[in-house]
Amino acid sequence: MKKYILVCISLSILCGMSKLQAQTEKHEPHNAGTGNVHVEIPVSDDRFNDYKGHFVDDLWAVYPSWASSVGYHKYDNKLVIPDAKSRDRELAFCKAQLDSLHSFKISDLSDANKTDYFLIDNQIKYIEWGIQEQRAFEWDPSGYNVSGGFADMLANDYDKLDTRLNNFYEKMAAIPAYYAAAKQNILNPTKEHTELAIEQNLGGVSVFEKDLEDALTKSGLEEATKNKIRERAKTSVAAINDFAEWLKNLNNTYPRSFRLGKGLYQRKFELEIQSSYTADEVYAFAVTHKLELHEKMYEITKKLWPKYLKSKSMPEDKLQAIRMMIDALSVKHTQPEMFQSAIEKQMPELIAFIKKKDLIYIDPSKPLVVRKEPDYMAGVAGASINAPGPYDKNGNTYYNVGSLAGWDKEKVESYLREYNHYILQILNIHEAIPGHYTQLVYANQSPSIIKSILGNNAMIEGWAVYTERMMLENGYDGDKGVSSTEASPEMWLMYYKWNLRSTCNTILDYSVHTKDMTKEAAMHLLMDEAFQQKAEAEGKWKRVSVSQVQLCCYFTGFTEIYNLREELKKKEGNKFNLKKFHEKFLSFGSAPVKYIKVMMK
Ligand code: ZN
Ligand code: ZN
Repeated sequence: MKKYILVCISLSILCGMSKLQAQTEKHEPHNAGTGNVHVEIPVSDDRFNDYKGHFVDDLWAVYPSWASSVGYHKYDNKLVIPDAKSRDRELAFCKAQLDSLHSFKISDLSDANKTDYFLIDNQIKYIEWGIQEQRAFEWDPSGYNVSGGFADMLANDYDKLDTRLNNFYEKMAAIPAYYAAAKQNILNPTKEHTELAIEQNLGGVSVFEKDLEDALTKSGLEEATKNKIRERAKTSVAAINDFAEWLKNLNNTYPRSFRLGKGLYQRKFELEIQSSYTADEVYAFAVTHKLELHEKMYEITKKLWPKYLKSKSMPEDKLQAIRMMIDALSVKHTQPEMFQSAIEKQMPELIAFIKKKDLIYIDPSKPLVVRKEPDYMAGVAGASINAPGPYDKNGNTYYNVGSLAGWDKEKVESYLREYNHYILQILNIHEAIPGHYTQLVYANQSPSIIKSILGNNAMIEGWAVYTERMMLENGYDGDKGVSSTEASPEMWLMYYKWNLRSTCNTILDYSVHTKDMTKEAAMHLLMDEAFQQKAEAEGKWKRVSVSQVQLCCYFTGFTEIYNLREELKKKEGNKFNLKKFHEKFLSFGSAPVKYIKVMMK
């Protein structure tokens, strides 16, 4: 098994957590904007390509765990002790990189390199801001957790087991110092991040016990070496337990609020989303969009009422009526044992529809492999796209489908209603074709190691969310076949419900972190206005209380891409060609939409 990077687990709480994209580095970036076949690489681009190589080398030396996570294993035995010295080292790295970067004149660079320039510039500023302004290392204890990196070393088969175990052993040496530094750093942690840190650190202990023991059983190392590893694992577990215990007993009389506050939030939004809109603007868009969606959903509900609910009287409350209609439609769903085949069956249908409607070129030589979720990913039900990392040259791209085996009947039924006949089609558009998977294939055509490690999540998620709407606008409806010109009202209603999720994620995130939204108000928003189940809404509340900004990437990217398309449509009139727009848009790789916009206008 090779090392894969998760692009998106749309059904799970993790969705959007990873900003990484897969690319194989076959040749140097070429000038994506010109369309010339033979492009002489100008001297400045040549020099810039060279610089990028050095930047990445230096980046991995400063961030060895990040390197391992994207499949670069040179520093697998290194664990950075998160003390003041390491922060100084990061800041020195930033300063040196900015100096080198700013010696280039942006206007001399190709479009592909211009966007790489901006991505590097932004990343450096993000690191500096994190250390100097956000200072999460003082208030977010959940930032201290070693188990994930160690778990990867055991679970992913990128090298011989004994080599991985050796690195595992060497890396463990720093664990006690790591947690000692953590204790030094923590000043006024939030209650929420403290609880999360305790839960996650204790949850990670099994990596150094059961998982490690399983690996040692399989390994051919000598017994004496194995015992050395076991000894150090015990010391590591003791350090983790001690940290959790220390957090539990912390005399934290004035905990910091988990709400980031407006100033930090706005800046974090700029650095993470890299949108041409401000956080305030996107929030305002989302509020308006929510109301529009409700209106559209109510119109459809009225229309469909006699078909599905004629024996019941329609409630006066619009939102209640919509909720009843959603419930009535959700009973149409596949069966647990058919879940994977239902997904598989739709792939060729999506491709055929896209061809027929001339929406975007789909490269037939790079088929997507649908498979059952591998065991090491188990536990996260649902679907995800697994793309090979930047250092895995020949990996396949997989569409992993979680198994519902072992679930109780009630949970299965509730899950299948959530991912019902209609939503499953929208999910496939998002995850696979022409969503994440298609975007990935295009991104791989202009390979850039920078975009594969610093790619813009709002662009990546925004594209997937944009394609959901675009497909329905063009009439996609699995029940009607390739010639469909109009999706059914049922499809639209369910699409709007799905779209409400990303819209309300944005409203929630902004309101919680900058406007003191209460939990009661949040639950009202998610359950009554976005029609979510209680469990889903509770989960979202938990997520928003330990994360900031990330929940906005879907709606922001979607809005930017959609608005760009509408603008170009207006400008180009009947010369506008949707297929060309899509292909050109994707040709720039996973760059922030605000830069793509400039290059497309
Ligand atoms: Zn996604
Ligand atoms: Zn059912």
